[in-house]
Amino acid sequence: MTSSSGSLRADVVIVGAGSAGCVLAEKLSRDDSRSVVLLERGPASLPGPADRDLRRLPIHDGAPYAVRHETDLGLAAPRGAALGGSSAVNGGYFLRWHPGDFASWPTGWDLETVAAAYEELDGPGGTMGVEPVSDDELGDAGAAFERYWSPRADVRAAEDRWPVTGVNRVVMNRTGPTRRSAADAYLATALSRPNLVLVPDCPVGRLEVVRGRTVTGVRAGQLTVTAGEVILAAGTLGTAGILLRSELEAIDPARTGQLAAGEHRGLAVSYRRRSPADPGVVLPTVLHTDDDLEIRCYRDDFASFIDGVPPSRPMVEVTAMRSAPMRIVATPTGVRLEFDDPDPATTATMGEGAQRVVEMLRAPEFADIVVPGSVTVASRPGFSQHAWGSMPMGTRTDWLGGVYGTHGLRIVDGSVLPSGGHSGPHATIMMMACRIGDLLAAR
Ligand SMILES: Cc1cc2nc3c(=O)[nH]c(=O)nc-3n(C[C@H](O)[C@H](O)[C@H](O)COP(=O)(O)OP(=O)(O)OC[C@H]3O[C@@H](n4cnc5c(N)ncnc54)[C@H](O)[C@@H]3O)c2cc1C
Repeated sequence: MTSSSGSLRADVVIVGAGSAGCVLAEKLSRDDSRSVVLLERGPASLPGPADRDLRRLPIHDGAPYAVRHETDLGLAAPRGAALGGSSAVNGGYFLRWHPGDFASWPTGWDLETVAAAYEELDGPGGTMGVEPVSDDELGDAGAAFERYWSPRADVRAAEDRWPVTGVNRVVMNRTGPTRRSAADAYLATALSRPNLVLVPDCPVGRLEVVRGRTVTGVRAGQLTVTAGEVILAAGTLGTAGILLRSELEAIDPARTGQLAAGEHRGLAVSYRRRSPADPGVVLPTVLHTDDDLEIRCYRDDFASFIDGVPPSRPMVEVTAMRSAPMRIVATPTGVRLEFDDPDPATTATMGEGAQRVVEMLRAPEFADIVVPGSVTVASRPGFSQHAWGSMPMGTRTDWLGGVYGTHGLRIVDGSVLPSGGHSGPHATIMMMACRIGDLLAAR
């Protein structure tokens, strides 16, 4: 660890010790002849037991390991600012994407190598400690949800890691009841290596760029780091902020001041409970439909997971997984998210999905849980804290995240996902970092 002023020189500088950054730092520093500097805006201390409890999301206003970005939907967009990044504060759902989701990925991402990279994370003895939610952890709503859908849809076998179109019991990155972050899985072992230098509390402002194309390092307040290669792993929002503050021809922030990206938009179907839910994991089980929805059975009202959120009602969320544009816009202090309405076809699909959920909540399986007449469908979709794809592979970067039209700059985080998938992004971002990290380490 070192302080955040002066200058450093390294073979590689990685910006962001998050889900992807921790993997890269570990893999690239295995060769002790390669010097690696890892810059993280969050603190050096790891979250304590209360913040690692999988029954809580430590993302409230003022949370020590998160920052909150503004949006035009009236909801904040929090992100982890910690060793482990968003993996240190997220819901712990760690589902792979469906095999078909990789069909649109660039050459190099064949299914066999994708499967091997996932296996490192979620296979037997895998690094992320992945285990399914147990029957005891489902809660009454999760159990009713699975009883309702099991006769109506396929059900993934607990030991299978590829999800199905049908019921998918969530698998979680965990050590028993606590969140297992990318820092626990990758960084903890690597930090004693003399060739890996971590600088915490170090928000990177911009890239050092020569003639609009050649990136020579990064600038973070009083600290300059010069490196043969800069890898941005600051998450889709953090990386966009750095790109938009830098003078890169490939981004041209002066012209647009923004980057287009994707999100998962979801329509909440809320209800009142007959009796309070027992505390438990946030999201125990989901249904994946053949019209690209993920129907998420949250265990309780979000007020029970996040401090300071006013009590509202428990919900089942009907989320469109393939198509939902948004913009990441530069502001004087960071970035702001602006959302377009989903297209009419997606809106219609979400509406139909919501009606199926209304029927479900009125069915006998939920009779002991839901107060009759209390079910309502939101008028406008929310979003999932999953922003991705502002610098997609195959379009703005090559298949290993090398940014087209630049020298010395690579991006490996949610920004380079070339599409949305049928599941949440976490497992897939880490899978991508495993594969890219292995290939770069072998160079
Ligand atoms: C509250 C929440 C719940 C979620 N739940 C789930 C879930 O259950 N399942 C799922 O699949 N997905 C979930 N997600 C999404 C998932 O966690 C993220 O998509 C994933 O962790 C992103 O990985 P990343 O490496 O791209 O970025 P991150 O893990 O966010 O890492 C980025 C790192 O870069 C650092 N950084 C940012 N800017 C700078 C800068 N300028 N200088 C230095 N450092 C910087 C950040 O502090 C952070 O440590 C959730 C996200 C949130 C916020």
